[in-house]
Amino acid sequence: MNRKNKATERPHVVVIGGGFAGLTFCKRLRGNCRVTLIDKQNHHLFQPLLYQVATAGLSAAEIAQPLRSILQNRPNVTCIMDEVTAIDRSARSIHLADGDELHYNWLVFAAGGRTSYFGHDQWAGRTLGLKTIDDALALRRRILSSFERAEITDDQEQRRKLMTMVVVGGGPTGVELAGALAELAKVIFRRDFRRIDTAQAQVLLIEGSDGVLESFPRKLRDSAADQLRKLGVQVHLGHRVTAIENDQVRFGDRIVESANIFWTAGIEAVPLTAQLGGEQDRAGRVVVRSDLTLPDDDRVLVLGDAARVQRGDGSLVPGIAPAAIQMGKFAARLISARLRGELAPMNFVYRDKGIMATIGRKAAVARIGRWQLSGPPAWLGWLFIHLLFLIGLRSKIIVVTQWVWAYLRYQRGARIIFGQDSEKSSAS
Ligand SMILES: Cc1cc2nc3c(=O)[nH]c(=O)nc-3n(C[C@H](O)[C@H](O)[C@H](O)COP(=O)(O)OP(=O)(O)OC[C@H]3O[C@@H](n4cnc5c(N)ncnc54)[C@H](O)[C@@H]3O)c2cc1C
Repeated sequence: MNRKNKATERPHVVVIGGGFAGLTFCKRLRGNCRVTLIDKQNHHLFQPLLYQVATAGLSAAEIAQPLRSILQNRPNVTCIMDEVTAIDRSARSIHLADGDELHYNWLVFAAGGRTSYFGHDQWAGRTLGLKTIDDALALRRRILSSFERAEITDDQEQRRKLMTMVVVGGGPTGVELAGALAELAKVIFRRDFRRIDTAQAQVLLIEGSDGVLESFPRKLRDSAADQLRKLGVQVHLGHRVTAIENDQVRFGDRIVESANIFWTAGIEAVPLTAQLGGEQDRAGRVVVRSDLTLPDDDRVLVLGDAARVQRGDGSLVPGIAPAAIQMGKFAARLISARLRGELAPMNFVYRDKGIMATIGRKAAVARIGRWQLSGPPAWLGWLFIHLLFLIGLRSKIIVVTQWVWAYLRYQRGARIIFGQDSEKSSAS
């Protein structure tokens, strides 16, 4: 596949990453060109519902769809499942893990982010993160295995450790995970287990700042913490984790023993961003111009979680799915215009339609425009929006209907343990 474009060939657009930004770009691009989409996975993943897979509410196939099938009606798009390992801007080419080199006329970099441990990389091996389907399945395996082991042990200390779940990081992922874990342990498992009292299970959420959900208005942050506490989550605010080892988490003057330590405290751009050779911020995001191109190269666009995009008021465009989708649409308009030799749009403008986080059944917070909602109305809004996404993703209303029905009745059908639990917990 090592080939340059001949003058007679159509311009070649190479897209790295089939997440929200890259996929939207591929669906929206118009014009006489050929597109190659490269992703190390063969699927597009709906990350906002990963915690549902981790807590046995949905199975993996319900939140992911093969990129090839999504793009089957776009004959000019070729999908390649491989990892991009290097980018050579001077040669306008990228290198793949299998040794191939691809040349581009335009490069759209949309490789997203990865879990960040803020310099404590050793904690990666001692906790489980939540970013990919593999992560969600490992998390689910850990929780289900821990409770199975708790059911058969007579050692009280061991049992407590197996039934204690610690979530580090009170952002949307941490809040959603902690709430879902509390419901799983205290409501759903209660019907399943005979020897253990699952009401004794503990879920701790540890957050370094003075409230959960830092990007939300104060009222909603406080409401989210209250809703979590009502579900039985122990919310520890203003505490940074200082050590994680041997199934122990240290924060403040406390040490908590837990076989289930989950890390949701941060995201940073993937290391491949360094290959672009541009300026990056502390989270590895690439600084781009207002049209999402690199300051010194208008043939390279950076989109989604990998991009550091400043808004007119100086704030940054948030690393959330709607922002990535909007960038994908903008980039498609820009390159389509250039392909036609027309004037390209100059400035990406992020339209903030709001933010929401669910905490449990009928518990959520949402800011939609100037409205601030919490409790059941916010939860209904969350459910509606995620249903629309899922229907769009799966085109299977029946799957979605089954999920809603099971969710409303506190049923978690995906409580199956596949494969072996990893060695990360000495208790398991
Ligand atoms: C657990 C979780 C929950 C979230 N919940 C919400 C939510 O409720 N609402 C919301 O708006 N946002 C949420 N987000 C954030 C949202 O998912 C991201 O902002 C969004 O996915 C960013 O889109 P993207 O296209 O930039 O990157 P991604 O969607 O991450 O896609 C990047 C793609 O690039 C591929 N890739 C990476 N490196 C390479 C490489 N070297 N070679 C080839 N392919 C590569 C990856 O496989 C991936 O498919 C959540 C994120 C997580 C992790």
